[in-house]
Amino acid sequence: MRVLTDPAVTKISGFDLERIRKDFPVLSETAYGKPLVYLDNAATTQKPRSVIEALNEYYSGYNANIHRGVHYLSQKAGEAYDRVRVLVKDFIHAASEREIIFTRGTTESINLVAATFGRKYISAGDEIIISGMEHHSNIVPWQLLCEEKGAVLKVIPVLDNGELDLASFQKLIGDKTCLVSVVHTSNTLGTVNPVKEIIRIAHSRKIKVLVDAAQAMIHSTIDVQDLDCDFLAFSGHKMLGPTGTGVLYGKAGILEKLPPYQGGGEMIESVSFDKTTFADIPVRFEAGTPSIADVIGMGSAIGYLSTMDRKAAGMHEKFLLKEATAALEEIPGVRIIGNSPGKASVVSFVVDGLNALDIGMYLDTRGIAVRTGHHCTEPLMNRFGIPGTVRASFLFYNTGEEVRQLTESLKMAIQLLTKK
Ligand code: PMP
Repeated sequence: MRVLTDPAVTKISGFDLERIRKDFPVLSETAYGKPLVYLDNAATTQKPRSVIEALNEYYSGYNANIHRGVHYLSQKAGEAYDRVRVLVKDFIHAASEREIIFTRGTTESINLVAATFGRKYISAGDEIIISGMEHHSNIVPWQLLCEEKGAVLKVIPVLDNGELDLASFQKLIGDKTCLVSVVHTSNTLGTVNPVKEIIRIAHSRKIKVLVDAAQAMIHSTIDVQDLDCDFLAFSGHKMLGPTGTGVLYGKAGILEKLPPYQGGGEMIESVSFDKTTFADIPVRFEAGTPSIADVIGMGSAIGYLSTMDRKAAGMHEKFLLKEATAALEEIPGVRIIGNSPGKASVVSFVVDGLNALDIGMYLDTRGIAVRTGHHCTEPLMNRFGIPGTVRASFLFYNTGEEVRQLTESLKMAIQLLTKK
């Protein structure tokens, strides 16, 4: 396979795409006998060998339940698990590891905030602001909460190019607003929202902000202290780690005041039938046996990301996006949905008169994995008046040649499907 990189990236940093691709075993797999072209990275990223090995080492070398175990294995597992909290803290530049809660993913992190912050601080008539480009996991928990509490959900509109309408946000925010919960990087449009500005505006009115960073972690460097967000939610599996892992970051001063999330083992200080007292943060929010191996695997993913030249990786992703956008724009009938400046390497498109699913299925026969449909952003699809898109999401390990295969195969798909 011809590996095409932006010559500028290779020159600047020695970004070695062929070596990087070798770190990801799945990338040398085939689909229907054809080399796999994996362009579904926004759904989940592939895992480097170091992450796979971390899981294997845990299960074959020191599988044990953590915390409170006096024995060697338990302590070894516990130490490995606890080390990841420090890794995550450093990765997002949190002030303390007490601010890092392990969850099953972004979805659970957001639900955790809805169940604790929501239970404590939201009452009838209060308003929660989200945006029109949210993933369902940053819509439905708030709808459920609003229904339960009699609160009201307000939505920041999306402009035609896929940017948020900040002027409308300024008008929506008011005395009744209790929380703003917005996505950092849209999984459907690739839009990178001005979250720092949104946080500044909300904080000027003492309103807390949750940032959904599910797509952001792999493409951007996130510094929670610089952003000044109150909560940040993300998933391990979208940043090279195992599924079933995620993080909720919350400012310690806020977390300390929140009630527990789920009840059970680990999250308590002492239990009696008269009264139970709860553990300190973050363990107060982590009832039950966690996904130990997977958290350790997530630590390994952070290790991988920390040793790579992320600036060069970002430049390469921009190159892939530019190539894909230019090639798609030349194909008659193709319309890209979302072209905000500075967007992440995600390209969503529709083709006149054709169904996204049919296109996805044709591309699949060529070994090309894209995603089709509403991408769990149905309200956003309604906003654009379309049932769904074809979405190709690129990561630093994709190649210019893969972009070429996507666009050439798309041309063939259009020819074939239009004939019918
Ligand atoms: N938010 C965004 C922007 C996402 O892209 C996703 C996953 N597609 C989620 C939230 C939910 O993440 P998870 O399924 O890992 O909980």
